[in-house]
Amino acid sequence: MSEFSLIEAYFSAVGKSRPDVILGVGDDAAIVAPSAGESLAISVDTLIEGVHFPVATEAYDIGWKSLAVNLSDMAAMGAKPKWVTLALTLPHADDVWLAAFSRGFSDLANQYNVQLIGGDTTRGTLSITVQIMGSVIEGQALTRSAAQVGDAIYVTGVLGDAALGLRSLSESLPVTEVNKAALLEALNKPIPRINEARDLYPYLHSAIDISDGLAADLSHIIKASKVGAVIDVSLLPVSEAYRQCQLTEKDYDSALTGGDDYELCFTVAKSSEAAMLAEAKTHTLAFTKIGEIVSGDRLTIKYRNDLYEAHQHSYDHFIQE
Ligand code: ADP
Ligand code: MG
Repeated sequence: MSEFSLIEAYFSAVGKSRPDVILGVGDDAAIVAPSAGESLAISVDTLIEGVHFPVATEAYDIGWKSLAVNLSDMAAMGAKPKWVTLALTLPHADDVWLAAFSRGFSDLANQYNVQLIGGDTTRGTLSITVQIMGSVIEGQALTRSAAQVGDAIYVTGVLGDAALGLRSLSESLPVTEVNKAALLEALNKPIPRINEARDLYPYLHSAIDISDGLAADLSHIIKASKVGAVIDVSLLPVSEAYRQCQLTEKDYDSALTGGDDYELCFTVAKSSEAAMLAEAKTHTLAFTKIGEIVSGDRLTIKYRNDLYEAHQHSYDHFIQE
């Protein structure tokens, strides 16, 4: 298979055919038409085999996850995703692998009305870089820096399942087979919270997606916003599978520090909370209040009235250097 037949077969028609794409895959550059009154939101993420997904991950799931993590960044900005490019480095051109990868990527792109408009294909160790572009109404992006003292802190969905899914690959966890499958599903096929973010963003002050673990990501909000936060781990939403893995009633380390959840953490003014919750009710996803923004510059983690000490730490690519 040549580079060009590979691109033609697997990447020339991925995702929704959007009317604002003037030129997609095939020329030296793609041409798109941004809408008046909107600003562009742009983000890029690389996934490397063995770092961002286990070596044995199915090609379909790799395709899905490489787009999901980028969509999650759009969700965290309150942005509407539109266009993506894909830089793919492959050890060899394997048709079965490429077909499954392309399907995983397409299934998610179709769901969120995103079109693959270009990319690059090279040979080497498996690595996938996706750049996503979307839009926000001018001046309405949801940033990390707009949390205010008194805001309530919420998270979507449940936390810690992806981290436990990863652990389940190398150690025996006390979960049923069905629950183990659910943990692996959370690790391999995260669902970006685009729809929820698009509906809720007018009510929110700040947001971040939880990719490195709640404690690390909430710390980014408080640093950028120059505030502090107090959260109570006993309020963290966890799944039935998570509860089966808890060695003690108090074990919230995976929910607090585990990566790869791709849920949203956001802050909302007390005066907007009721309206936000009314909008949240139109979604099946859980929205859980876990704490409050306070003055200062520290993240205080409690278990009810006591301080909580985590024994795990969030992932950092360069921490040992
Ligand atoms: P160039 O020689 O200009 O770098 P390429 O040969 O890399 O162009 O790519 C040819 C066309 O195919 C371009 O439009 C490029 O955007 C697109 N393309 C290449 N690889 C991919 C990919 N993995 N996914 C989507 N489009 C791709
Ligand atoms: Mg190229």
